[in-house]
Amino acid sequence: MSETSSAPTGRGPKSSAPPEAAAPLTPPSAPSGELPFWKRKSLEEMDRDEWESLCDGCGKCCLHKLQDEDEDGEPGEIHNTNVACRLLDLGSCQCSDYPNRWDFVPDCVQLFPQFIETAVWLPTTCAYRLLHEGKDLAWWHPLVSGSAETIHEAGISVRGRVISERKAGPLDHHIVDWPDL
Ligand code: SF4
Ligand code: SF4
Repeated sequence: MSETSSAPTGRGPKSSAPPEAAAPLTPPSAPSGELPFWKRKSLEEMDRDEWESLCDGCGKCCLHKLQDEDEDGEPGEIHNTNVACRLLDLGSCQCSDYPNRWDFVPDCVQLFPQFIETAVWLPTTCAYRLLHEGKDLAWWHPLVSGSAETIHEAGISVRGRVISERKAGPLDHHIVDWPDL
């Protein structure tokens, strides 16, 4: 078993420090009577603000994964762990140094619309994955609820159920089988 890319993220480039957690929620608004942007536009059609606002702040894509060795040319199975990237704030579930994250976590992956189809490691609750699969956002998504807290209240975020890689020890002691990963 070998470690895969540990730190994919769909949060997109930010101009200032950690993303959504502490910041007031300001979803791109639709004119009265118009469907919200995620129901009107494809992922490719969204502008940067819309794309970034899709990230629900769950923190699941900041968890380490392990992958079995390839066999017969087939990619090895991916195993999820409850071990978070060293930069993840375990309370807010946000990156603690988003603008400079690549200085510390060079393999932190940035999501693009064209990349979603191949990003099989995205959790089943991830907004990018849901929309790519033709599904809608759930009630707890901040764009739907209007609150950045519902992701935590609904138990969808990683708050309270992960450990930092700074303390975790061997990753293979931390494999989890959560239905929402
Ligand atoms: S560097 Fe930040 S965004 Fe990237 S995986 Fe780590 S905590 Fe997540
Ligand atoms: S898994 Fe969660 S934090 Fe990561 S990109 Fe998807 S919605 Fe955002």
